[in-house]
Parts: sequence; structure tokens; C-alpha cells
Amino acid sequence: MTVNATTLPGVEATCGNCEACCCRLKVMLITDTGVPDKFIEIDQWGGRSMALLEDGWCSALDRNTMRCMIYEKRPWVCREFEMGEYDCISERAANLQGVLIESLRVSTTP
Ligand code: SF4
Ligand code: SF4
Repeated sequence: MTVNATTLPGVEATCGNCEACCCRLKVMLITDTGVPDKFIEIDQWGGRSMALLEDGWCSALDRNTMRCMIYEKRPWVCREFEMGEYDCISERAANLQGVLIESLRVSTTP
């Protein structure tokens, strides 16, 4: 099943009605914006990225408020990711698709 991001019903895409969909993406650290080390993961080649926790979301996301805990120091990639633009809409659609599939799976499990 696919959900076409361009034909979703007319719900305005704002961070206030989103479960921080984009904070599940891999965020590479390209510049130094002051992200605390505890949120950083370093791969075998020395590449630095925001660490994701087991639930799939960024380690710097407050799970109670679903807001960024390091907003003033957030990575460049996060600053460039614009609410309401194509990538934002696509992530929201992908998340909605996952939620629908999971709810179908639960409702059809005997
Ligand atoms: S930028 Fe878009 S995908 Fe990210 S939290 Fe805001 S509405 Fe959700
Ligand atoms: S650093 Fe903040 S804005 Fe960027 S992915 Fe993590 S929680 Fe989201």
C-alpha cells in the first residue's frame, strides 16, 4: 500500500500536529552547532550523526513533548528541513502509512 503525499486530505502540515516524523531520519552532523556529545553517534569511518534510540526517534527528542531538547544547537540538517515543504510532507505520509499498516495488522490479528 502506498500513500501519495500529494493527494493527502487538506490537513495543514505543522509541527504542532505531527509526531516529529522528521526526527526519525538519519541526521548527519556536517557542521559544529554545539550538539552535546551524549547525543552523537560515530560510525566506523568517523562519520558523526545524531544517535537514534531503540524507538526510532532521535536521542535529542523529548519523548513527553515530542520537541527538540537542543533546539538552539540543533544540527544544520535539522535547520534546513522546512515545515510544510516536500520532504516534510513525504515524511508525514510515510509515517501515516506505517500507522495505517500497523493498525490493520493489529485489527486482523486473531
Ligand atoms: S518539520 Fe514536518 S515532519 Fe518535521 S516535525 Fe515538523 S511537521 Fe513533522
Ligand atoms: S536534533 Fe532535534 S530537530 Fe534534529 S532530529 Fe534530533 S530532535 Fe529532531
